[in-house]
Amino acid sequence: MIFVLKPAVPRFKIEAFRQQIEEQGFQTFLSTGTEHTVVCLIGNTAAIDMESIVQNNDIVEYGRRVTEPYKAVNRTVHPENTMVNAGGVIIGEGMFQIISGPCSVESEEQIIKVAQSVKESGATLLRGGAFKPRTSPYAFRGLHEEGIRLLLKAKKETGLPVVTEIMNQTQLPLFEDIDVIQIGARNMQNFDLLREVGRFHKPVLLKRGMANTLEELLLSAEYILSEGNNQVILCERGIRTFENSTRNTLDLSAVPLLKQKTHLPVIVDPSHASGLRDLVAPLAKAAVAVGADGLMIETHNDPARALSDGAQSLDLRQFQSLMADLKQRISFEGKQLG
Ligand code: PEP
Ligand code: MN
Repeated sequence: MIFVLKPAVPRFKIEAFRQQIEEQGFQTFLSTGTEHTVVCLIGNTAAIDMESIVQNNDIVEYGRRVTEPYKAVNRTVHPENTMVNAGGVIIGEGMFQIISGPCSVESEEQIIKVAQSVKESGATLLRGGAFKPRTSPYAFRGLHEEGIRLLLKAKKETGLPVVTEIMNQTQLPLFEDIDVIQIGARNMQNFDLLREVGRFHKPVLLKRGMANTLEELLLSAEYILSEGNNQVILCERGIRTFENSTRNTLDLSAVPLLKQKTHLPVIVDPSHASGLRDLVAPLAKAAVAVGADGLMIETHNDPARALSDGAQSLDLRQFQSLMADLKQRISFEGKQLG
């Protein structure tokens, strides 16, 4: 259940109202938008007399029952689009961002070269995995701390904010200078990790699990928001289906559906969705057309020698020409890159 408050209610009245509700055995949290403040109730609210609360509290404009299990991420609770500040660049509300870089940070030379090139082409954030979740324990699993150090060096050289994946909460101290913490598909329902990044107060890029519904994705985001961190970007990166000619099946309908259901920005990763370099450009364009707020695209200076995901990585020239095309499409959609 939510109570939408009248405009410009003083803070002490809001707190007194919350206390009155909490004394009845409910948890509450505040959702503060530019126009409205909303008090959300968590718990089984079936027995609450909503009408009498509205009538007896002059600060309340109206009440509404929220039937979905997710509350803080729900657009009903927070109608305005959330803008995520990713190290100084804004994602959402018409601001479109392109995250690019290698699957894995492999060496100083590699990450600096890729960072400089993708920046020149127009990417606005740099990605690079330091802790890599790999299906085989014998595959390259990343440079770990050294990978974080090199990524931060590339950030210093280029000024691009950086995105990198965390595998578990013990790694959080290493992420102090990282701009966006990525939670990968395989960790989407690692609930302890979700709670910890919810308390860490850094933007989180939450990828959809390969066998998870949109409702499950939203509930995972809810874990983060319910700990006080509303800086969450959702990422559609393809799901497992019976189709095996692509690595995953890109669920493009997830983008407009998620944007109806939640106020959080939604981006698309066409690289992991397809696993095939040739499909990255058409899927990236489709993502712009269905209303995504950004893209994550894997790039490499020498994809044939990449230590992970070479087959889906664009080389630096391919990325440059894709960017030239995307820039026009992004502005055609009325959005601004960067
Ligand atoms: C990645 O971004 O490199 C990655 C491992 O992605 P996902 O979690 O979507 O598979
Ligand atoms: Mn990858």
